[in-house]
Amino acid sequence: MKDYYQTLGIRKGASQEEVKKAYRKLAHKYHPDKGGDEKKFKEINEAYQVLSDQKKRTQYDSFGQVFEEGAGAHPGFDFNWAWGNSENVGAEFDLGELMEEMFGFGVPRRRKDLKRGKDIEIDLEILLENTLSGIEKEISLYKMIACSRCQGRGAEPGFSNNECFSCRGTGHVQQIKKTFLGAFTRHTICPECNGEGYRPTKLCNVCKGEGRIKGEDKIKIFIPAGVDNNQVLKIEEKGEAGRRGGKPGNLYIKIFVKRHSVFKRRGDDLYVSLAISFSQAALGDEIEAPTLGGSDGKKTKILLKIPSGTESGKILRISEKGIPHFSGYGKGSMYVILMVKTPTKLTKKQKELFTELKKQGI
Ligand SMILES: [Zn+2]
Ligand SMILES: [Zn+2]
Repeated sequence: MKDYYQTLGIRKGASQEEVKKAYRKLAHKYHPDKGGDEKKFKEINEAYQVLSDQKKRTQYDSFGQVFEEGAGAHPGFDFNWAWGNSENVGAEFDLGELMEEMFGFGVPRRRKDLKRGKDIEIDLEILLENTLSGIEKEISLYKMIACSRCQGRGAEPGFSNNECFSCRGTGHVQQIKKTFLGAFTRHTICPECNGEGYRPTKLCNVCKGEGRIKGEDKIKIFIPAGVDNNQVLKIEEKGEAGRRGGKPGNLYIKIFVKRHSVFKRRGDDLYVSLAISFSQAALGDEIEAPTLGGSDGKKTKILLKIPSGTESGKILRISEKGIPHFSGYGKGSMYVILMVKTPTKLTKKQKELFTELKKQGI
């Protein structure tokens, strides 16, 4: 004889709660869709069918596994009927939903926050110079903002919000569904109040109960140093206002760094090309190299030593003169590419000198 208690791993005097708990745990573990043992799953279900039903359980306890109620044979629990053949399951419940409720351990399904405002995404162009120390920007957004007349409550001033009588303020209602696996409690959004839990006794004249209106919002934001092209900055709760005091959405700012006329950025490093003359390349020199100026646009320069015998294309690295890392620690480097300039127009004197050089084999 099958021992249903053993199947569920519980003692004989286990409470209904313990039966349920054991069943859920095992059903979850052995569910065939999750790679479990189908035969075992069937046994668990059979045991649960009996032990969860007080009448059947008493009968089982007294007489063992005999469920011929009267003359007709009890259909019992048939795996194929219940799980395999959707025709017989019928349209009155969704098997997927049922599974979710069964294996979701009775927790109400995570409800989407219906009152939350929408997120806003904007593009923002900044200068390469702005990435050196960051920049404060004031931006103007045309969006849903909280209604000032009702302070976002949606109720006309002087009128209160009434608790929704349907859900008693909880925003959701319970439905009990009886199925072949027992009764399941389903939580759904209260249709009366749309999940809010209250209804204004009189709707606000301005926002008509929405708690928000279209309007302009000027906000100051700080774009941190080191931001790069296509980087998205998230500014919490600066999106659209929520419905009736709901949480605002977020603001996402996609950064576009304007192309610079002199400097090219690669990662946090900067590249700049610098022309030097034949004689500077041959003899060496000390020249001024530009660095990326601050946000004031002022060009700053540094002295750069060109070694004698420099070939065209030689790259000099100057550390800490690049873009600050977004993490806030350290900076990239600046690379100066030295390009030897070939003179195109020569004076008579220069021509003479080059001729002399040519004679020297240079
Ligand atoms: Zn209002
Ligand atoms: Zn309600």
